[in-house]
Amino acid sequence: MLKRTGVPDRSQIKDAFPDESYLIKPKAIIECFEAIPCNPCETSCPVGAITIGADINKIPVIDHAICTGCGQCVHNCPGLAVHIVSIKEDKALFRIPYEMPDVPKQGDIWDGIGRDGKTVCEATITAVTQKEGFDKTTILNVETDKTYLYDFITVRRP
Ligand code: SF4
Ligand code: SF4
Repeated sequence: MLKRTGVPDRSQIKDAFPDESYLIKPKAIIECFEAIPCNPCETSCPVGAITIGADINKIPVIDHAICTGCGQCVHNCPGLAVHIVSIKEDKALFRIPYEMPDVPKQGDIWDGIGRDGKTVCEATITAVTQKEGFDKTTILNVETDKTYLYDFITVRRP
């Protein structure tokens, strides 16, 4: 599916996630499926949770047991391939990288978009963070119903 359409299938997405029991705390989810020469996720992680190794073409491997959910790897990834996820009661909480010029405001409800570009749910923007060190990447905190944990990936103005 990924090779043919550019969209990962459900099993590839689920393989990127830890067991849901880990998600009581925020964890980085890395959806970097192709072997490419890149490693800022590895070098930016302050606790060494991401491993690529000497061969920079290897796919990153994350140890969710030691990931603190700090988010350093999110704005350092040039491919927008990392987001932070946690679960609180019946909600899925996301911190996503966002680089479109049309930036939402805190409190907005936008369309939650899936990996195939289609609308999957309502997405409430709970925070918008823009910082000098983020190199023009905005970080959006987004809340959806927990049902969409594996479906939601970004937002679009309705
Ligand atoms: S969220 Fe923080 S601790 Fe977790 S992998 Fe990314 S940089 Fe490392
Ligand atoms: S920084 Fe992003 S694109 Fe580069 S290897 Fe890490 S996850 Fe993949």
